[in-house]
Amino acid sequence: MGVSGQISKIGDSEKLSLVGDINEDADIYFPTLLKAFGNKVIINFKAVSSINSCGVRAWITFLRELEAGRSVTFEECTPDIISQINMIPNFRGKSAVNSVYAGYTCQSCGNAQLHLFTAGKNMPASADSGAGEVACVKCNKPTEMDELEEEFFAWL
Ligand SMILES: [Zn+2]
Repeated sequence: MGVSGQISKIGDSEKLSLVGDINEDADIYFPTLLKAFGNKVIINFKAVSSINSCGVRAWITFLRELEAGRSVTFEECTPDIISQINMIPNFRGKSAVNSVYAGYTCQSCGNAQLHLFTAGKNMPASADSGAGEVACVKCNKPTEMDELEEEFFAWL
């Protein structure tokens, strides 16, 4: 499955919620979106299941056009998307990052869960300022982030 998306109006912004795999088909899909946007765009990555290297290239080309004359905000970035942002600065461009999911694993019961960090709420101020404790949703015991906090939040 390739990527698709839904556009909804949120205040004075258009919000694009992407779904599926960002792969070689994204080259065809992304450019068709441009005409739907005004000058404020929110991209929601929550339902993106995977992204490959063709998809990354298509995204970067698309973002460059999208950012021309528009302000772009990323929200609900998955751990996969954050690792792209950390590896490839152009993946984010000039966009703001409003919220991100980090993966955590419970040290007691092994439960894997995602925890959302939102700017202005619980997002750390910088990569080395610490993300705080995250309790397991199943047993309430402490969990550990799947990646090093300083690496996950390097983009801050
Ligand atoms: Zn647990």
